[in-house]
Amino acid sequence: MLTYTETQIRKSFINCSKGEAQRINLPKDVLGGWESRIFLAWIDPKAPQNGYMVAETEDGLRGIVLQKKAGKGSGNAQMCQLCMTLHPGSGISLVSIQRPHTKRDHYNSLGAYVCADLACSDYTQGRKKPDGIRQMGETLTPEQRAARTLDNVQGLIGRVQQN
Ligand SMILES: [Zn+2]
Repeated sequence: MLTYTETQIRKSFINCSKGEAQRINLPKDVLGGWESRIFLAWIDPKAPQNGYMVAETEDGLRGIVLQKKAGKGSGNAQMCQLCMTLHPGSGISLVSIQRPHTKRDHYNSLGAYVCADLACSDYTQGRKKPDGIRQMGETLTPEQRAARTLDNVQGLIGRVQQN
């Protein structure tokens, strides 16, 4: 896996303006952690409703800005759409992702259910486990799990890109 500079990461965002991308809060430990992660994801420490994901795609590095929707989880266990980890209700957040500004001046957004802490890489690679919940038995190898998570993230970014 490659490492990327802060400039490359800021340039990768597809659904915010250049000015907004410059102002994104990019913690140093995020930049340093690329090699051990499937994709980069972090929550703005100063504005915890704002999250960011950056992944390698066929078109190069692509990043998306997302907003966590307020509201409590249902209390039922829910699954992250990216890493397929089961969490108690509060461990999953509904996020809203703005699509890029289209030629027709038409804004819209899509939603996804993801790990509330955006730590999908850690869950996929077994560094983190949700408390008090049993995961479904899986027969995939760690490599296959990592590939699936990356695939899901790329799929999500692809859907954001589609106008
Ligand atoms: Zn996840």
